[in-house]
Amino acid sequence: MSEERSLNFLEEIIETDIAEGKNGGRIHTRFPPEPNGYLHIGHATSICLNFGLAKRYNGQCNLRFDDTNPTTEETEYVESIKKDIQWLGFQWDNLFFASDYFDQLYAFAVTLIKKGLAYVDDSTSEQIAAMKGSLVEPGTNSPYRDRSIEENMQLFEDMRAGKYKDGEKVLRAKVDMASPNLLLRDPIIYRIKHEHHHRTGDKWCIYPMYDFAHGQSDSIEKITHSICTLEFVPHRALYDWFIEKLEIFPSKQYEFARRNVSYTVMSKRKLLQLVNEKHVSGWDDPRMPTISGMRRRGYTAVALRQFSDTVGIAKRDNLTDLGLLEFCVREDLNKIANRVMAVLDPVKVIITNFPEGKTEELNAENNPEDPNGGTRIMPFTRELWIEREDFMENPPKKFFRLGLGLMVRLKSAYIIKCEDFKKDEAGNVTEIHCTYIPESRSGQDTSGIHVKGTMHWVSVPHAKTAEVRLYDRLFKVENPAMEEGDFKDYINPDSRLVIPAAYIEPALADAKPGDRFQFLRKGYFCADTDSTPEKLVFNRTVQLKDPWAKEVKKGDK
Ligand code: ATP
Ligand code: MG
Repeated sequence: MSEERSLNFLEEIIETDIAEGKNGGRIHTRFPPEPNGYLHIGHATSICLNFGLAKRYNGQCNLRFDDTNPTTEETEYVESIKKDIQWLGFQWDNLFFASDYFDQLYAFAVTLIKKGLAYVDDSTSEQIAAMKGSLVEPGTNSPYRDRSIEENMQLFEDMRAGKYKDGEKVLRAKVDMASPNLLLRDPIIYRIKHEHHHRTGDKWCIYPMYDFAHGQSDSIEKITHSICTLEFVPHRALYDWFIEKLEIFPSKQYEFARRNVSYTVMSKRKLLQLVNEKHVSGWDDPRMPTISGMRRRGYTAVALRQFSDTVGIAKRDNLTDLGLLEFCVREDLNKIANRVMAVLDPVKVIITNFPEGKTEELNAENNPEDPNGGTRIMPFTRELWIEREDFMENPPKKFFRLGLGLMVRLKSAYIIKCEDFKKDEAGNVTEIHCTYIPESRSGQDTSGIHVKGTMHWVSVPHAKTAEVRLYDRLFKVENPAMEEGDFKDYINPDSRLVIPAAYIEPALADAKPGDRFQFLRKGYFCADTDSTPEKLVFNRTVQLKDPWAKEVKKGDK
């Protein structure tokens, strides 16, 4: 984290707590994902925040799987979540599962019953909803609200023992049916679900509701600062109520605004739809806003952490510009990615005054941003591939590339001059004839000739082929979730364009999945997980400049 920025509101709270000696100055946070999907860039913000605060204040951060709902959770998600957190550069101090606390949570529920603060309700969910009241009307007490402690104890035990079917009975906290906060109107704390759980198997057929598991889990782990997103503000009163009535460790809940990023969707439900309906190839499709998708696309952990830190946290909902994330990615890749040459849409150049069969080995600098980046060999021959768009038959003024009579420099090689070209019957340029200036070799140029344009190229006999996948934003509109109709109607049809056989320089032949490069003038690319030595595949991570033109203001919230 950069030290020069001012404290965010959570850091201010923490520093005050430390100054006042609260909890003996101890800071303990947690990241509590529900294992029902892959993590996305919003979770990355929460991870950076929770683990970052623990680090900054010499505290601890737990990873706790919030797996109290047996229906949706899968082990695959647990593993992907762990992998993503570690890839982001964080390590949990303790790993827990809320399901580990089922016995303790059951005991807490019994405590409430014994205190006369919880009761078993036989009403149907419709009846319970009807008795809830509204924002302007108080609720009505359930006819089961005044059952005796003994009866409640027996019924709750029977619920646990599997005597009842799903929905036949629930356990409710006895709070206040007239509370202006609807969540305090005798919330359900346990429900019957005859379902197999990914960790506890068939041991339980009753499961605690979120509100009755979350705060208590925090308390069991002695979490000092329980950070969540704004939609939990109304839950805070209940969070505190349970802790107070159970007389357990006083964890405190704090809320910040969800991270929303433009040109994508963030809810797991929507992401799951994209996967299930095959709009994308999977959770790790390089266009997905998931951490695994971004990793596959070539985004770096440094860039994601920098993004999180640059944007900071807010107390009001907002939409962060995707351009800012791309800016952070470019900034990091500029420092670390080797420059290489790849021709995506090739046309052949013949250097008529260069001997046939000769190969000259030129040295090319790997990374001008890295003094220790070293060099590599670029073979130069009589036949070269260049980018089709770098030649024009009738170039306008100020076209600093190739056209009849024009001169350009080939990167790390020579200045060449276009003398002639050939076309096929359809009028497509098939061959460009050039001469090269032998005295103009890069690094030892004595030609005295100055040219404005520098182009990338690859030697024809040395070129390897690779599939190149050009990715762009997944959606055409800033906030697809807010548009009318189905968010999937706004998918960008050009978000994935595949070039089956681009020509790449030979040094790229041993690229391993995950290796990152700048294809000169073309953008940042990374070898895909599908890439093999026999069939190389590269993903475009991000273009060199933001083609979506909107100005990116650093720190915009
Ligand atoms: P979603 O709505 O995408 O399904 P969720 O809140 O159900 O997300 P959880 O697995 O419960 O997902 O989230 C784990 C943690 O990550 C929670 O503390 C949650 O507040 C935080 N989190 C989830 N989404 C975001 C987001 N967009 N921005 C910041 N934090 C988030
Ligand atoms: Mg959740």
